[in-house]
Amino acid sequence: MDQQLQQEGYFGEFGGSFVPPELQEVLSYLSEQFYKFRDDPDFKEELRYYLREYVGRENPLTYAERLTKAWGGPKIYLKREDLNHTGAHKINNAIGQILLAKRMGAKRIIAETGAGQHGVATATACAMFNMECVIYMGAEDTRRQALNVFRMELLGATVVPVHKGQGRLKDAVDEALNDLVCNYKTTFYLLGSAVGPHPFPTMVKHFQAIISEESKQQILEKEGRLPDAVVACTGGGSNAIGAFAHYIDEPNVRLIGVEPDQAPSLTQGVPSIIHGFKCLVLLDEEGQPKKTYSIAAGLDYPGIGPEHSHLKVTGRGEYATVTNEEVLEAFQELSRTEGIIPALESAHAIAYAKKLAPTMSQDQIIIVNLSGRGDKDVEQVYQMLK
Ligand SMILES: *Cc1c(COP(=O)(O)O)cnc(C)c1O
Repeated sequence: MDQQLQQEGYFGEFGGSFVPPELQEVLSYLSEQFYKFRDDPDFKEELRYYLREYVGRENPLTYAERLTKAWGGPKIYLKREDLNHTGAHKINNAIGQILLAKRMGAKRIIAETGAGQHGVATATACAMFNMECVIYMGAEDTRRQALNVFRMELLGATVVPVHKGQGRLKDAVDEALNDLVCNYKTTFYLLGSAVGPHPFPTMVKHFQAIISEESKQQILEKEGRLPDAVVACTGGGSNAIGAFAHYIDEPNVRLIGVEPDQAPSLTQGVPSIIHGFKCLVLLDEEGQPKKTYSIAAGLDYPGIGPEHSHLKVTGRGEYATVTNEEVLEAFQELSRTEGIIPALESAHAIAYAKKLAPTMSQDQIIIVNLSGRGDKDVEQVYQMLK
């Protein structure tokens, strides 16, 4: 059983589970429970219920008419994860995992967060399901995202600032894993992106795949055909893998992930092990995970989900970078032309779609995954543009 589950956690050479034996035991049990409940009709029905009644799904696939005209090329559609409760795609995964935690009898939820968005999504779900909630957050990130810290506290969570290392997302993940090993009997680790040891990347993809399940049906209804390209930003890779999932077996649909040019894990990373799994990682001269920096805190991670690493090396996925200037311009352009202020993360996808559009024809279609709304970033952008 264990060996079979292990192999299911591989995407080509990437993924797997490289953790101490005491953590492996916890993860193997989690795998078993995930596979057990994933296809359980009651579980599926309960998940559907909360996605509809609480998250507000399905969300629209909006035709961006003015943006399409402005760029003069293919039709641009926006998948509106920004309209979910809490304003981003992360709630999809938080609800899915917390329902699993509930079935497993957990009383306490822990999570890591970078931008604060996953922490907010987790704290929200914990409030609703009456679970104790502890959020680990890099000390540097607690300063960058002070309002999100306050939001989590309002929602009843305890936020623990992590001062170790760079005081960033990567360090918060380490602390959360330590907590899990010490408290696994009562505690569920609700991981926020398609990263980490098996079964997390598979589980997170499962809960985020609703994005492309909906968008595929929506584009078939609106256009009677599949898109030519799906574009999404990649931090750990959860919104992108969710936006790609139902198109991976459709060879005519290009799948394009967009990274900040200052944290290009996929475009410049090398195979390595980080946080208990193998993926493409940005390393410095000493072979350590590189210090990355992105204006979008949610994209600031030196690794990337194992399945993206696999899609990259097999050529099924394409990965590109954009500059801060391009992102800031996209942030403003979408606001002006469509009345949608995007998250800085999502603005990476918009920025790349703008470069892609002139290479395509007017009868083609691009779906851009709008992973979140930009309210959280308005003040930061104000400071940067001043
Ligand atoms: C967290 C976040 C991201 C990056 O995370 P992924 O796991 O790569 O999706 C992107 N967009 C928004 C709005 C986020 O909050």
